[in-house]
Amino acid sequence: MQLVSDYFGCMVFDDSVMKAKLSEDTYNSLQRTIAHGRSLNLSVANAVANAMKDWAVSLGATHYTHWFQPMTGITAEKHDSFISYDKGKAIMEFSGKELIQGEPDASSFPSGGLRATFEARGYTAWDATSYAFIKDGVLCIPTAFCSYGGEALDKKTPLLRSMEAINRQAMRVLKLFGNEDVTSIKTTVGPEQEYFLVDKALFEQRKDLMYTGRTLFGAKPPKGQEMEDHYFGVIKPRVQAFMKELNEELWKLGVPAKTEHNETAPSQHELAPIFATTNIAADHNQLTMEIMQKLAKKHNLVCLLHEKPFAGVNGSGKHNNWSLSTNTGVNLLEPGDTPYENAQFLLFLCSVLKAVDDYQDLLRISVASAGNDHRLGANEAPPAVVSIFLGTELTEILEAIERDTAYGVKEKELLRVGVHTMPKFPKDTTDRNRTSPFAFTGNKFEFRMLGSSASVSGPNTVLNTAVAESLRLFADELEQAENFETTLHELIKRTITQHKRIIFNGNGYDEAWLKEAEKRGLLNLKTTPDAMAYYLSEKNINLFTLHKVYTEKEMHSRYEILTQSYCKLINIEGRTMMDMAKKDILPSVSAYAQTLANTMLSKKSVSKSLDVSYEEETLTQICTLQKAAHAGVKALESALETAYEIKDVTALAAHCKSNTLQAMQELRLAIDRLEEIVSSDYWPFPTYGELLFSV
Ligand code: ADP
Ligand code: MG
Repeated sequence: MQLVSDYFGCMVFDDSVMKAKLSEDTYNSLQRTIAHGRSLNLSVANAVANAMKDWAVSLGATHYTHWFQPMTGITAEKHDSFISYDKGKAIMEFSGKELIQGEPDASSFPSGGLRATFEARGYTAWDATSYAFIKDGVLCIPTAFCSYGGEALDKKTPLLRSMEAINRQAMRVLKLFGNEDVTSIKTTVGPEQEYFLVDKALFEQRKDLMYTGRTLFGAKPPKGQEMEDHYFGVIKPRVQAFMKELNEELWKLGVPAKTEHNETAPSQHELAPIFATTNIAADHNQLTMEIMQKLAKKHNLVCLLHEKPFAGVNGSGKHNNWSLSTNTGVNLLEPGDTPYENAQFLLFLCSVLKAVDDYQDLLRISVASAGNDHRLGANEAPPAVVSIFLGTELTEILEAIERDTAYGVKEKELLRVGVHTMPKFPKDTTDRNRTSPFAFTGNKFEFRMLGSSASVSGPNTVLNTAVAESLRLFADELEQAENFETTLHELIKRTITQHKRIIFNGNGYDEAWLKEAEKRGLLNLKTTPDAMAYYLSEKNINLFTLHKVYTEKEMHSRYEILTQSYCKLINIEGRTMMDMAKKDILPSVSAYAQTLANTMLSKKSVSKSLDVSYEEETLTQICTLQKAAHAGVKALESALETAYEIKDVTALAAHCKSNTLQAMQELRLAIDRLEEIVSSDYWPFPTYGELLFSV
């Protein structure tokens, strides 16, 4: 049997391979580039490219690609073979130039108006901090994707810029606390990925799943998730076989898949890796989603990453565990033991409090999508209101600091930051309450509003930049301080007072919380269009431009792309519903109605006294519902037609939200009720029961 440790990362051009395959000089130059983000000189690049190619070819690779993450949310790759001619003979070649930069035609990727057609080409640039790897015989080079004007066309570029921003500001703060040995800080992320597995043959019979990734119709099955028997339940053999192969594939690619278990809904599962530096975690999560989908097919399954594949059972999210770590390995959200460590921890904690409060709109926007709108606030995922869970102990500590009172009953002295040691609080009392959108879990924060299909890049770009801004303001103040300790104490105290409204330790699903949140002035942005309205505010433009994460032009382009993709999705969903209702469901319902009517007539022809109440009542009910469904089809048709005439993307999104979605909901209501009474023999699509319980 092959040991995992023997093949883990075998498809990755990682540090150990670099050490083995590169000369000492080349290796050291490359390391300096990776550590300091310097640009690679061409002779080093040539040496690295050549070694990479030899290594890849020895593992069966024939092609290479610049692997990047355009705004479509999925990864893109264009394969080039290593083949070249030398004196009429085919040889395998890969140059430093080809490694560092690629030039894909960018014209078919969403750019939100950034790229005029005359400059259709974009370029990709190697992110040397994320290792190259071999996937399906192709050497993949993780890259960023920009226009020729240098504008970001992808999700990686802004993420890397945000990591730079938080590094700059956190370093200023760390210097004030001493920390002479620290040279850089990076944010870390561990995303917990939820997904559904359904049978492939059944999937292929559902147009809605095929075109939109979610069911647009479907009556409630006799059994749903009410027995709570799936969560952490025994994993079925077919799923187990899939998970086993998934782990192996991920491990070969150096993705540290760690935990797997069944989730709340039937057929729902989760995979979590060991956390990594944010840009690497983002690459790994993209790979994970891609490989999940590919491998599932091999097992005659389909992996659904949609946020809400089924109405009435839980949808899928992606918890984004986040922290900051120094190059010396210190987690800055670890409370520590000494007054000094505690003080530094409290300041970083406050930087997050302030960031999440000041930029709740951006955090909400960063998780906004048509799919995720079905989950947030629906009592299965956090509400659409952003708040922070700190746990009672930590909240009490903050209260003691804010009010200059003693902490707990036993303590007599007032808690002074930087002087006293914080009382210990047990980690396990930190959040087991799963209703909070943003929870402190002992030594990291868990941002729980992300949808399952989302790239983690967007949310982390916002989080990093918002925290960088808090740290910038803190550093500005502390660098000027005459007495560091007093200023620090007052700064922490003031931050708590100003931002404690964002702290909420109670049940986020409770209706009362929404009222309370409103009183506190917190935003409740229920849908994507509601949230997007806040994106281009002066405050947000200032944030991103100041920290050089987005230019104003890039923000306008992102606004366009995000809003447009919301509209496109809803349009596709609406058209799919029309197609299913008109071509499949309503004709089947008519056929069944005919059978009932014929049966009634035949019974009567045998004897007028025979009872036909079943046929008659069912037929009456069906006719009423069919009429409603037919009206629903017409209403949806008209909403879709109106949409074609709306040119302004903001107005279109408002129309999709208020009219198209509304019409879809009404049509669904009538058709789901029909499904409950029409004979199974006539219903044209597999039911929820079959989809959810067949694997
Ligand atoms: P849960 O109780 O939510 O299952 P776990 O302890 O299993 O929590 O962690 C969930 C995820 O958080 C894992 O992917 C883990 O690697 C990640 N994680 C742990 N520590 C950190 C950290 N310092 N920064 C980022 N992610 C982390
Ligand atoms: Mg979690």
